[in-house]
Amino acid sequence: MTTRIDHFSSPAAAGRGAGTGEVNAWIVGDDEVLAVICTHGHADHVAAALEVAERDEAPVALHPKDRALWREVHPGEPADIEMEDGGIFEVADVELEVIHAPGHTDGSVCLYCEELGVVFTGHTMLAGGPVPHDGEFPDFAEQLTAIGEHLLTLPSDTRVLPGHGQESTIGAAQKKFDSWVSAGPAATSPSGLGD
Ligand SMILES: [Zn+2]
Ligand SMILES: [Zn+2]
Repeated sequence: MTTRIDHFSSPAAAGRGAGTGEVNAWIVGDDEVLAVICTHGHADHVAAALEVAERDEAPVALHPKDRALWREVHPGEPADIEMEDGGIFEVADVELEVIHAPGHTDGSVCLYCEELGVVFTGHTMLAGGPVPHDGEFPDFAEQLTAIGEHLLTLPSDTRVLPGHGQESTIGAAQKKFDSWVSAGPAATSPSGLGD
């Protein structure tokens, strides 16, 4: 069986807090939807989750610390799977490891696949740096710590597949990290997204 990664991007969902940029959705696996994994609970990243999941009777996975954000979008319809740091999804013939990376939201996660050499980073880190929400960083220091401790420690040739925009690599992020730290939270590099 060959595991593949497909990429879709769609205009951000309408609604409060939704961004203006296109949202990346990454599909890992073969021909069956086993789970819809939400990198965090902001509207543009969870609005379509139930619809996609219901079509294939698949569960939705969310970190419990983003439950309140999820509820704003899907009141009365809780996510099915509570992700925790170190959790594993077995997809086709590979494993996706859950990396809890709080900062952008308390329940932000990244998904790392060692076999494929990729990490899905949601809003924790785009090619251009950490992502603010509505133009502000909820916790800039914590987000930078999560990037430094959990992402930049991955092999440098790991592909970074983010929640918006172009893919990058861990090696490229390692080179830029110091400039993100010194720029501080006032610099809103990829904030055109505003979510
Ligand atoms: Zn977000
Ligand atoms: Zn987004």
